[in-house]
Amino acid sequence: MSEILPETLKDPFDRSFRYLRLSVTKRCNFNCTYCLPNGSTRVARHSELSVPEISNLVGALAELGIRKVRLTGGEPTVRADIVEIARAVRAVPGIRQIALTTNGYRLAALGKDLRDAGVTALNVSVDSLHRERFHAITGHDRLPEVLSGIDRALELGFERLKVNVVLLRDINDSEIESFIEWTQGMPISVRFIELMRTGDNGHLFESRHVSSDSLRKRLEDLGWARERGTPESGPAQEWSHSDHLGRVGVIAPYSRGFCETCNRLRITSEGALRLCLFGDSDFSLRSLLQEPSQREELKQVIQELLRRKPSRHLLHEGKFGNVRDLARIGG
Ligand code: SAM
Ligand code: SF4
Repeated sequence: MSEILPETLKDPFDRSFRYLRLSVTKRCNFNCTYCLPNGSTRVARHSELSVPEISNLVGALAELGIRKVRLTGGEPTVRADIVEIARAVRAVPGIRQIALTTNGYRLAALGKDLRDAGVTALNVSVDSLHRERFHAITGHDRLPEVLSGIDRALELGFERLKVNVVLLRDINDSEIESFIEWTQGMPISVRFIELMRTGDNGHLFESRHVSSDSLRKRLEDLGWARERGTPESGPAQEWSHSDHLGRVGVIAPYSRGFCETCNRLRITSEGALRLCLFGDSDFSLRSLLQEPSQREELKQVIQELLRRKPSRHLLHEGKFGNVRDLARIGG
């Protein structure tokens, strides 16, 4: 029998929100060329939400029907208290799933503690399976560590493991087949992400953007079939192949209808609600995260703000809001 929820967050376009993307930091220990070409952002001490603030936030959102929380950033594992954060989110009544998006650099070391703290799903970014190319893209010669982190995560029994690959023309698009081959015997989902234009990557975007249409054509030619979407899959398109244990996903923000299935709320590391990834306004909730007694007011403010959620982003018109990079707002 399906669960009866006391409240559900909806926007004016009848989209329901059960999934929170919570950025816990803007900081990062990599400098991916498409994300942080100028290096990581400096952050003032105490600008990041504390564990009690996160508990108050997630507590209110769980009462509004949020069931899944993804911890992201920047690189979430640069926070010394990332395991404590995961534990606090897991302790919130109503939260069923905690996922983490990471560059994988600290995964081998932290995997067990994260799993014990209740994280069950991981997205690990691996933009190349060639060591030198990985180094060139991320600015760090860490491919072996990232791959051993993935092996360790599989040993630890994480329920879902996705590998994120941002496709870059003439840099890593020659590796599409190698990534797909990886899914043959591994229970992973490789997700090809279309490069998104941000304030800091304009030049790269012009020369390296690969349209998802050509990728879909390639998948069809290789015998992959597109799955029907579920409300949980959100904007990602899932593909499967009878000879492969794993799957392939395509995240195509420039394709038609991408925003129609938007099912995620985004909160920045400083506690602001961001109504659209590619919008230009954040609404700070921080003053309402200080005490559990503020919960009803917090819930009311979130519901009111959601009425202002736009129907879609304006990337096609070349507008990407105030996004300098995705690390800053939580990719
Ligand atoms: N540091 C973590 C990581 O790299 O997985 C989490 C944060 S990162 C911003 C989240 C995801 O966004 C990564 O898979 C990254 O490759 C992707 N990303 C960053 N900038 C992007 C861009 N301009 N276009 C498409 N994807 C991007
Ligand atoms: Fe850091 Fe992730 Fe951005 Fe790479 S994509 S610079 S790992 S935040």
